[in-house]
Amino acid sequence: MVLLHICCGPCSIYPVKYFKEKGISFKGYFYNPNIHPYREFRQRIKALEEVQKILGFDIIWHKEYGLRNFIKETFMLWDNPGKRCERCYFMRLKATVKKALEIQAEAFTSTLLLSIHQNHQVVKEIAEELSSKYKVPFFYEDFRKGYKNSHEEAKNLSIYTQGYCGCIFSEEERYYKKRKKELIKEYNFLKVSDIF
Ligand code: SF4
Repeated sequence: MVLLHICCGPCSIYPVKYFKEKGISFKGYFYNPNIHPYREFRQRIKALEEVQKILGFDIIWHKEYGLRNFIKETFMLWDNPGKRCERCYFMRLKATVKKALEIQAEAFTSTLLLSIHQNHQVVKEIAEELSSKYKVPFFYEDFRKGYKNSHEEAKNLSIYTQGYCGCIFSEEERYYKKRKKELIKEYNFLKVSDIF
């Protein structure tokens, strides 16, 4: 069985269908202390519950709001999106690999590998490092080919799709024009999607 870390409902659709079509046994794992504020966190849980109901699969839920834990882990990295995101991937993938060990899953992977907004290479490298440290195989698949399809299907099913990555800083980077401009200047980002 593969433990599939799930970041949100829309991003789960393609990977879940992929596993089902290939006949690979899997279980979802929701652990995302990076989603803020609280009402957004609840909304994303609700969206994933809807996907779960439609597609029918098991999920191990971590429904506790992780704001403080996230802030502690990313302390001093808030204004450096690259480093902050790296730490954020690490937090979530480390929890996933530990859960995989606990439930004796044969491998682990993540829907973070689907998003065209995440740093795919960094997600992959962190997962590989954790895999070798904890001796749990990493199931790698470039799910990005299913990004469009996954999100279109979410739209057709009226599943809530978020407007920003997750943390309160990404919300600022997405909607606060002044911060957007600063980031483009500081980090030479070409478009806002590069930062989450
Ligand atoms: S932008 Fe997204 S990946 Fe980066 S720290 Fe925030 S929630 Fe995590």
